[in-house]
Amino acid sequence: MAKSSRKNKANRGGKSLSTRSIHAGEPRRKYADSLTTPIIQTSTFTFKNSKAIEDYTKKGKEHFEYGRYGNPTAKIAERRLANLEGAEECVVFSSGMSAITTTILSVVQSGDHIVITDDSYKKTLEFCRSYLKQFGIECTIVPFGDYEVLEKAIKKNTRFIFSESPTNPYLNVFDLVKIKKIADKHNVLTLIDSTFSTPLNQRPIEFGMDLVLQSATKYLGGHNDILAGAVLGRAGLIETIRNLHKSMGGTIDPHCCYLLLRGLKTFPLRVKKQNESALTIGRFLESHPRIKRVYYPFLESHRHYRIAKRQMTGGGGVVTFEIKGNLNTAKRFLDALKLCYIGPSLGGVETLITHPALVTYYDYTRKERYALGITDTLFRLAVGIEDVEDLIEDLERGLKA
Ligand SMILES: *Cc1c(COP(=O)(O)O)cnc(C)c1O
Repeated sequence: MAKSSRKNKANRGGKSLSTRSIHAGEPRRKYADSLTTPIIQTSTFTFKNSKAIEDYTKKGKEHFEYGRYGNPTAKIAERRLANLEGAEECVVFSSGMSAITTTILSVVQSGDHIVITDDSYKKTLEFCRSYLKQFGIECTIVPFGDYEVLEKAIKKNTRFIFSESPTNPYLNVFDLVKIKKIADKHNVLTLIDSTFSTPLNQRPIEFGMDLVLQSATKYLGGHNDILAGAVLGRAGLIETIRNLHKSMGGTIDPHCCYLLLRGLKTFPLRVKKQNESALTIGRFLESHPRIKRVYYPFLESHRHYRIAKRQMTGGGGVVTFEIKGNLNTAKRFLDALKLCYIGPSLGGVETLITHPALVTYYDYTRKERYALGITDTLFRLAVGIEDVEDLIEDLERGLKA
């Protein structure tokens, strides 16, 4: 950490996350005395003369060269995210999936083996299961929460363990203390997708995780208007990823970085509100006669409640629940909602609801879905920042239908 803070001369922005989310990572004096972060909308950068080129190439003087290799607005987003996550370095990407795939490809090579937990993000699993095989990388998918099976799956050539916490849609919580012990014992890296928890609710770096992945599309951007991703960790590992990123080209646009930085300013405020509202809604649903089951990590009824309380400071904005009835009941519930929008994604200011059976798993047979626990009456509510009473009224309307 000391090394990165020496290197990072930009404003560190105070002690609290709220202050840092507004100020960290950027110089106090900006272009044209602008208060807000300038959007450097350019694909390339110029050199004043031959000396400037040589200062850059031979003496390592900081200079931007070409948009795919870096951009000042993106750099500020990277510094701010690294600061918030408590990481040495960060690379931002055009999407969360770009961050995940580039990161994985940069740490494995042909002949390696990886371990991933089974309720990881659908496209991450698909990438590991189907595409890594093409490069001669073997993948073992282990059941989430069974640490014995996970440890047994580790082989001599295992490079890393990949998991998420909390997961989608059941909000299972991965025990970071346990996994750190296992990883150290077998000398493997730990990669954790922390999208559902954000640096406000969970701090994987402090638990010794090697690399943290974020889909900034969700809470960090927070306004359902951008796609962005990030990987965070130690300087050495991140440098390797940054180099591959320059070839893979999942470059984020400067304007998108501006929107991410703008979103980040209110991220702790928003997520605090989402934590509170989701818990209130979880309790409301749990006591409702038409509800079969509620999943929320900060409800005592959740199977990982104790782990969640130990390693998280808030349960996040997603509440998953099953209503009583069948597929038709589920459709009637969905069609009666007037405030919650029906749509995928989470973490933004607008409340969104998804019916995984009809959307994410539409191409699975009913039997395949049920094997994964995706029942006909399962819903995932991604709570926004509307008034919680209005949201409860809307859910009540749906449940009456
Ligand atoms: C959305 C999401 C992703 C993918 O991120 P994109 O920004 O959509 O590419 C990865 N992991 C989790 C947990 C997500 O929720």
